Amino acid sequence: MQHFLWKAIAGALSTAERLCSRGINIDPICQRCGLEDETINHLLLQCQHAQTTWRCADYTVFNVPQDALEDNIRKILHIYAESEASDEVRILPFWITWMLWKSRNEMLFQQKMNHPNEDAVKWLNAVSEWVLANPVNHHSSVSHRAASTLWEPPPMGFIKCNFDSSFSQNSPIMKVGWILRDSRGSYMEAGWATLPQVETPLQAEASGFLYVVQRMWYKGLRQVWFEGDNLELTNIINTVRQSVELGNLLCDIRHWITKLPQCSLGHVNREKNQAADVLCKHYLSNSVNLCKLYETPPSWLVNYLYYPFTF
Ligand SMILES: [Zn+2]
Repeated sequence: MQHFLWKAIAGALSTAERLCSRGINIDPICQRCGLEDETINHLLLQCQHAQTTWRCADYTVFNVPQDALEDNIRKILHIYAESEASDEVRILPFWITWMLWKSRNEMLFQQKMNHPNEDAVKWLNAVSEWVLANPVNHHSSVSHRAASTLWEPPPMGFIKCNFDSSFSQNSPIMKVGWILRDSRGSYMEAGWATLPQVETPLQAEASGFLYVVQRMWYKGLRQVWFEGDNLELTNIINTVRQSVELGNLLCDIRHWITKLPQCSLGHVNREKNQAADVLCKHYLSNSVNLCKLYETPPSWLVNYLYYPFTF
């Protein structure tokens, strides 16, 4: 769900208005109400259908949605951060936004018309069940996070690309390492590459990320869940912030991200990203290679492929 919200914030959902602004020749009008352009904000909050859905689910807070998508998303995140509210109340907005997108696609591509009330009831039940099965831990979230060190597979249909960069001040080069695994955890590919040296560790992370984004695009992969362990880079990318330190590198990354609208970037702790870390630090003393691909995992990597997600 957070993954979905990331795309909404980044403006990466392919709504009619987005496609038009990219020069694709289609009607920008919302096919549900026919009244306004189908922007992400319209689809998820302002459209009559969205409004009815939010009301059915008892979220009066969105009766008068803000004009800027970012303000509405801030509200959703604020609700999530309010620890006094019940788990259902905190999590439901993620489900509703995701459901509105899903229901919109069903309408457009399968001619399925869902009544907002039916949707709301169906999803309220789903959320209650989900909350029962996954109690949200309010008090010990820090220790909880520290304990989870195992790599986690991406959702069905997605490929996870863990990446990491190594940077040392006096070296003429920097390195990036990456590893691809599917939703069953199966190994797909790993590799490392040397890149021109940069000035700071953050630039090295960004430069490495740009390289793997380009590589995934080149490989023809379109649903990729990138995962790195640099929180600062993840925040800059996900909140559409500017960064003097990254400069043009950030422009390049943003440009390439638009080519992969179904991808996202998440942040994990170092332990979960260990395989990529080992790859970017792997050093071959007498190698003249600038990059290396491993179609099957090399022996020194096997220890970092966790059971049951090994092969
Ligand atoms: Zn509409």
